[in-house]
Amino acid sequence: MQEEKLTLEVSAHDIASCSICYAHNYDSDNADMIGERVDKLYELKIGGQVLTLCDKCLDRLREKLAQRISAEEKSEPYGGQIVLFTGTEFTARDKLGQSYRYRMIGAEVTRDGLTRLLNLDTGLLTYVESAWFRERKVKVVQKGGTIE
Ligand SMILES: [Zn+2]
Repeated sequence: MQEEKLTLEVSAHDIASCSICYAHNYDSDNADMIGERVDKLYELKIGGQVLTLCDKCLDRLREKLAQRISAEEKSEPYGGQIVLFTGTEFTARDKLGQSYRYRMIGAEVTRDGLTRLLNLDTGLLTYVESAWFRERKVKVVQKGGTIE
């Protein structure tokens, strides 16, 4: 059985201190000692690295992870993978803020990996690469079905 490379456990060491704020789980005579005295410390193992963390720093880590995840969800509502069906209408705004409305007219991508779209604002047919979707903010206006 392979050893778990990512674990979080209560530290079993009698003498340990937080990797971030130096909070320690033992009494010290040194009045100048940095960090506060805490009862519990945690050991976060990531691969070969071991980080000792106190409650507060563990909380901060959790907040940072949550912020990171929510930031990612906001910037890419479709998780980077946009699934459009034939007939789906959507608006795509590019980096310059130009927004057009499109209708997906070919669910199948061509051999070159291009997707067929009809620009409803200009009435022009366009073929776009998958990168095209990643470079734009895409908002589905109307879900397509099996029309056509
Ligand atoms: Zn700490």
